[in-house]
Amino acid sequence: MGICNGELISQISNPDSPLDIEEFRRQGHMIIDFLADYYQNIEKYPVRSQVDPGYLKSRLADSAPYHPESIETILNDVEKDILPGITHWQSPTHFALFPCSMSIPGFLGEVLSTGFGTVGFNWMSSPAATELENVVMDWFGKMLNLPSSFLFSGGGGGVLQGTTCEAMVATLTAARDQMLRKIGKANIGKLVVYASDQTHFSVQKAAQIAGINSNNFRVIQTTKSTNFGLSSDSLHSAINADIDAGLVPLFLCATVGTTVATAVDPLRSICGLAKQHEIWVHVDAAYAGSACICPEFQHFLDGIDGANSFSLNAHKWFFTTLDCCCLWVQDPNALIKALSTKPDYLKNQATDSNRVVDYKDWQIALSRRFRALKLWLVLRSYGIVNLQKFIRNHVKMAKHFEGLIAKNNNFEVVIPRNFSVVCFRLSPFALTGNQKIMSSEEDLNEINRKLLESINSSGRVYMTHGMIGGVYTIRFAVGASLTDYRHVELAWKAIQEHADTLLNDLCV
Ligand code: PLP
Repeated sequence: MGICNGELISQISNPDSPLDIEEFRRQGHMIIDFLADYYQNIEKYPVRSQVDPGYLKSRLADSAPYHPESIETILNDVEKDILPGITHWQSPTHFALFPCSMSIPGFLGEVLSTGFGTVGFNWMSSPAATELENVVMDWFGKMLNLPSSFLFSGGGGGVLQGTTCEAMVATLTAARDQMLRKIGKANIGKLVVYASDQTHFSVQKAAQIAGINSNNFRVIQTTKSTNFGLSSDSLHSAINADIDAGLVPLFLCATVGTTVATAVDPLRSICGLAKQHEIWVHVDAAYAGSACICPEFQHFLDGIDGANSFSLNAHKWFFTTLDCCCLWVQDPNALIKALSTKPDYLKNQATDSNRVVDYKDWQIALSRRFRALKLWLVLRSYGIVNLQKFIRNHVKMAKHFEGLIAKNNNFEVVIPRNFSVVCFRLSPFALTGNQKIMSSEEDLNEINRKLLESINSSGRVYMTHGMIGGVYTIRFAVGASLTDYRHVELAWKAIQEHADTLLNDLCV
């Protein structure tokens, strides 16, 4: 129904339109019902997809249908052909990688923004999209207790990017151009980027894209003595060596919650060091940043005031659907100078007034989605109190799992837990009854690899691995929205059963 000149008029259904309103309503309800049933039955599916490569081609037609097919037929095929090839990230026994935590407001906010179909590249193209993003980024920044210099209200500002990779390219490009304005473009080959051996590879990709000489990408070794966090002494030595060689230190990516071990780099000392050499520090807290809405985790951000930029993925552990990377910068102008273009056809009074943010100048792409809406729905629907509760509950479940591991001599925790990820393995002790295979650390790695593969092939639970200091480590990452204690217990039972079978096989 619509209102025109005060009169109520009926929308006329038009089956030939791609947006027939009654069909939209009918099919929209069907999809929600389909997904509600999916969540209800999600535990029946193998968590990690069990299909072989190329499984789908033989099930589908060779070319697109000439005549239309009904949504009923298509949904049947989704169930029959697509679901088997889906790894069920929302399953309560998905403990792999990092979570991609779904929620009702996260999902509905996504639907709402897709439904509006806006393309908010600058303020004018949808003022609400820009202004809501300004507001939620300041809200979220305050929740994390970020220094006010990262907020619009304090002269900085936040932007929603698609992924951390994009945030990394944007900030590294800003840092590069800022430095080249000082030392001259011809010196681009001298710029050096620093990361640790635990830093996510996206910074390397960003360095490649930004034209950093591949010989100038420094990977600094971490060790168990710092729980695989970056040591400022090692960083200091690397910086000094580069300066002595006539190179120019440019950019350091520090991490709060590294990809494998969830290690935390000591921000205060490394930012202090970076400042002495005018190095841009980006803090990547893709997964663990969300935990910092709880005061008890905020000490991990100690020293963040010395960083230039900070990002986290709300689509990992903040109940907001992919994609939603939140990036804050202390100096938006550095971003804008590197990423701004001013085509004549986008000229408008609001931009000229300098009173608005044009987010196209804060990111790589021109067009952008109305991501702020889903984050706004999440923040309002749950409030800080419930969001903290969800995070703490995940951390408590991880702690519970860690306790189960610690009580069983066959297993060991490889590195102390910081957040909701437990890094563990079958311990050397489990194998002492079997001298033949007790020869080396490599053997132990191989046995743990076999254990993980046998668990994942069962479809009951899905976990992934990482190498930490040469040790093959199984990661148990809690964070799926449907996970409860019974799923943690179920996973623990599956792990022990598979380990028993493996150890028995080794003994015969
Ligand atoms: N940084 C860290 C610490 C990560 O763990 C990940 C992915 O898991 C990323 C960055 C990459 O994030 P994105 O996929 O959003 O680029």
